This record gives sequence, C-alpha cells and structure tokens, in this order.
Amino acid sequence: MIIDLRSDTVTKPSKGMLEAMMEAKVGDDVFREDETVNQLETRLANMFGKPSALFFPSGTMANQTAIKLHTNPGDQVVCDKYAHIYNYESGGVAFNSGASCKLIDGNRGMFTAQQVIDAINPEAYYYSPTRLVEIENTANRGGGSCWDFNEILKIKAVCNTNNLGFHLDGARLWNALVEKNENTKQYGDVFNTISVCLSKGLGCPIGSVLIGDEAIMKTAIRIRKVFGGNMRQAGYLAAAGLYALDNNIDRLVEDHKKAKEIGQMLSKLSIIKTVEPIETNIVIFELNKNVNENSFIQKLKEKNIHIIGMGTNKLRIVTHLDYTDTMHEKFLEILKNLTI
Ligand SMILES: *Cc1c(COP(=O)(O)O)cnc(C)c1O
Repeated sequence: MIIDLRSDTVTKPSKGMLEAMMEAKVGDDVFREDETVNQLETRLANMFGKPSALFFPSGTMANQTAIKLHTNPGDQVVCDKYAHIYNYESGGVAFNSGASCKLIDGNRGMFTAQQVIDAINPEAYYYSPTRLVEIENTANRGGGSCWDFNEILKIKAVCNTNNLGFHLDGARLWNALVEKNENTKQYGDVFNTISVCLSKGLGCPIGSVLIGDEAIMKTAIRIRKVFGGNMRQAGYLAAAGLYALDNNIDRLVEDHKKAKEIGQMLSKLSIIKTVEPIETNIVIFELNKNVNENSFIQKLKEKNIHIIGMGTNKLRIVTHLDYTDTMHEKFLEILKNLTI
C-alpha cells in the first residue's frame, strides 16, 4: 500500500465518476455543441451568480487567460510573493501577457488592503500601469490558508477606487468555502474573474473553469484558442466535473480533519522545528536544522509514504479523497514511531 501525500492531484477517478464520464452526451465543443460542457459551464456560472463560464484543460491556462483579459503588455499585476501565477506558472504572466508582477510581502500567502494601496503605482508615464489585483484562496504555498472575507471586501473597495480588475485563483476555493462556511455567490459578487480547479480536492482527472463578467469573458474563448486550449468532445471530462460538484465538495471536511491530526502528531516529534497553522488540507512543516530534508523524505519513502520538499528544510503533506481512513491510521502510527 502506497500512501501518496505529495499533492491532492494524485487522485484517480472513482468508479462513480468513471460511470458518469462514460454516460456523458458529447459533441464538438469548438462548435459549442457539447451539451455536457455547456451544462458544466452554465452550472458554475449560476453557482457564482455570474453570466459566463468557460471550461479549461488546466488551472494555469484559466489563470493565464484571465491575466491576458485584464492586462495589456507593460501593465502590472499585484499579487503575493507566494502566488501560484508568479511562482508555478512558468513565467506565463510575462510570456503570455507581457505583464510584470508587483509582489506583496504577505503573511502565509495573504495580504491586506493597505498593502495593496502601497503596491499601486502612481500615475506617471515612467511607471508600469497597475491593472489587476490577484489573490489565491486557499493560498497553496501559504499552507492552504484561508482569507478573511472582510479583507477581501476591503481590497475590492481599493480595486474600485483605483479602477483595477480583481481576479481570484480559486484552485482550492472549495476547501475555503467548506472550512469557513462561505458560499460561491459572495465570491461571485466581489471578483471580476474566478478560476476554480476540478482536478485538485474534487478528484477529477483534468479540468478548470474560468467564471466571470460578460464584458471581460467575451474574448476568453479566443484567448483559450490562442493558448492551444480548444477541445472537442470534452464532455467526457466535463461529466467528471459535474459528478465532482455533486459528490466531492462536502467531504473535503474529512481531508481537513486528517490534515489537522497529522499536524498534531508532527508537532510532537522532536525532529520537527515548527508546523505551520493548518486550516485546510495542506500541512507545511519545518525540520530541525540537524535533520536533512532528503533523508527524511527517503526514510518515509522506505515505508511507502510519499511527501515532497519545498526547499529550506520545509516539507509538504496534502490530504485528499484517495487518502483513506486506513492509510491515515497507518501513517499516524508510522510517524509516532519514527526515528531518524
Ligand atoms: C494547481 C494550482 C493551479 C493550477 O494548476 P494546473 O496544474 O495548471 O491545473 C493554480 N493555482 C493554484 C493555487 C494551484 O494550486
């Protein structure tokens, strides 16, 4: 039995999901004739109270499309130093949009409205025009941290005053909604564009959706085409998404509970310096200086537990729907008796 805790993307489609995929009614999506894709897009648009949604093969493509829609070459995007769009999208902001990022030195991937105000460039021809504010909820590198919705509202007010777009990278928004008892509509009210992943905690093999206002989404399909994201009978994939929305959101609380229990066990180990606060399904912890990151990972690997390093002696564990109760018990037992 291999216990894979490297990411919540390692899940495989369940039997129920595969059945839903097999039964999907499909058509050529380039002609907009795939009724399952259309159904998924309509459903997500309605969930967020937005007029428009578009299915994408990846979260990166959905975010990159949003950034392209909000900016012109030379513009600046305000985001956290930990942001996925900045760190893990292969320099796409510059490559695809010719834009730059103004990084905020936030706290666990989150920042304040005042920090946004301070990051906006004054209007002068020698500055890069600030055009977009981007936040991530939950913040991945921030350890699955959840934003305070009041701060989001304050940032929205700053965006309105300064005529800035507001984009949410909601790859793991589902985790935040479940943990904080929030709803999709309140997010739809605030953001111009929102990307959500179906292939993280929700367990789909592929798929993200960009949701947004009519005017800005009008050219989204053209940008997706330019980025190479046209799909044909994608309804087989969209069916997985619909299944996930029906079956896999509420259960995320289980992943959060397990992550917290892992964190409690880790904090008892003498080889561990700190465990970062755990709010959702991500556990980030730091080893003592005298413990080598790679030997720790290797030690667990010998016991069929897979986790990943983040550099600087920090490691990451992510719980997910294929991490069963049995695996959880076994992992806690192994941790308890771990010697390095
Ligand atoms: C995974 C992820 C994405 C999208 O990644 P893809 O692998 O391109 O689907 C975007 N933002 C965050 C915060 C993520 O964790």
